[in-house]
Amino acid sequence: MMNVEAAYSAENFRKSGHEIIDMLADHLHLCGDVSSPTLCYTDPGEQFRFWETEFSRAGDQQPAELIRKVIDRSIHLHNRNYMGHQTAVPIPVTALTHLVAGMLNNGMGVYEMGMAGNAMEKVVTNYLAKKIGFGTAAGGFITSGGSLGNLTALLAAKAASHPGVEIGSCAVIICSSAHYSLRKCALVMGLPDENIFELPVNGMHKMQTDELPVYYDKVIEKGLHIICVAASACSTATGTYDDLKAVGEFCKRKNLWFHVDGAHGLPVMFSPVYRHLIEGVELADSLIMDFHKLMMVPSLSTAVMFKNGSDAYGSFSQHADYLWLDQDSEEWYNSGKRTFECTKTMGVLNVYMLFKLYSEEIFRESVEKVYGLAREFAQLINADESFELVCEPESNIVCFRYKFPESINEKNMLLKQKLVEEGKFYLVQTTIGGQLFLRVSIMNPSSLIENFKALLARIREFATQD
Ligand SMILES: *Cc1c(COP(=O)(O)O)cnc(C)c1O
Repeated sequence: MMNVEAAYSAENFRKSGHEIIDMLADHLHLCGDVSSPTLCYTDPGEQFRFWETEFSRAGDQQPAELIRKVIDRSIHLHNRNYMGHQTAVPIPVTALTHLVAGMLNNGMGVYEMGMAGNAMEKVVTNYLAKKIGFGTAAGGFITSGGSLGNLTALLAAKAASHPGVEIGSCAVIICSSAHYSLRKCALVMGLPDENIFELPVNGMHKMQTDELPVYYDKVIEKGLHIICVAASACSTATGTYDDLKAVGEFCKRKNLWFHVDGAHGLPVMFSPVYRHLIEGVELADSLIMDFHKLMMVPSLSTAVMFKNGSDAYGSFSQHADYLWLDQDSEEWYNSGKRTFECTKTMGVLNVYMLFKLYSEEIFRESVEKVYGLAREFAQLINADESFELVCEPESNIVCFRYKFPESINEKNMLLKQKLVEEGKFYLVQTTIGGQLFLRVSIMNPSSLIENFKALLARIREFATQD
């Protein structure tokens, strides 16, 4: 048999599929045992040499053999001691939907290439629009990640806020403690870095909204044009929420576009306990929410939502004769008219499956679990003289440090490095106001307060070793 024929064989697929699913199930099982490592750290050079050698032995392996090595050399998000970056710990069934999307490979850009996917996107985004409190004119779609989501929304904001006017590089985005993707967006949009106006933050690292009128006047005086005011819900570094109501009302008064970057923290919309954190979100003209952060699905899918759905067609109005007959009509089922992507993965299937199996209850439960754990963890830190918090957590993100009497930044950095190399826990660091802090995002809804007690105990041991 030719290679290509064997490679497409249904029976070969069935056999290796069963083996790999068994292997992943064993992996999940092992992750439940916290004595198994979260990661086996190897330095980048060694890692490269390993995969280079592996690559040179092409053709002599069964698929499962390679997968075994990939699992062993990857960080294990399903371990309860994973508390690092804000990446979802996928619910296993969503790994299956991800696989299905890969096999069907429906490209989504035009209707026929994603009939089910395009319709599912409309169902899910309509549901979210209602949940947010948008009216019937709202609309949205799914794109590949929050960074691209922000860019898409900002381009729509630019088109809608200054229709028919070439504002070029005289445009400004007002924000505060924004995700660095906003600066990347500005770069792509041809805006100089200084045209990102960053408002100061208060003690909770939230936008100081009473500064908005001052900054507004400054911008207008300079003859610049405001594309939008972008609020964080929540911010990436500290996980605290800007006052959306205050920003939204200001924008309404001044007739400005209001964008909410809710990549991480908008799923609190599913929790009656935490919904108050996003009060005023319905005032937004555009917003984004990542599914692959707090919504427990594999990367990469992000909802981009507009209060006025037809604004979405302003981001990329262009012509592609081979794709669409009617270039200017607004057709929800031809996804490529609104997205940066041409070919796009059927990312909606993962989240659609979770809604169907569990309803929004699963998101409520998970948000309340990880947000609640963050508050308990903060209490442990507050009760221990050797540690300090940056601020009380509002989300599942907690920033803290060990109070070394001297060289506090260097020593906390070293602590983090030691923890990562040991491989039991995974956490990260961040710099806030020039100071280095340890940063935990509680992404695994199976984590227990005991895991955080153990983390603090391990840190104390490292800190007092020499
Ligand atoms: C993670 C994050 C982003 C970027 O999203 P990606 O999906 O990683 O591209 C943007 N904004 C905020 C607030 C985030 O937390």
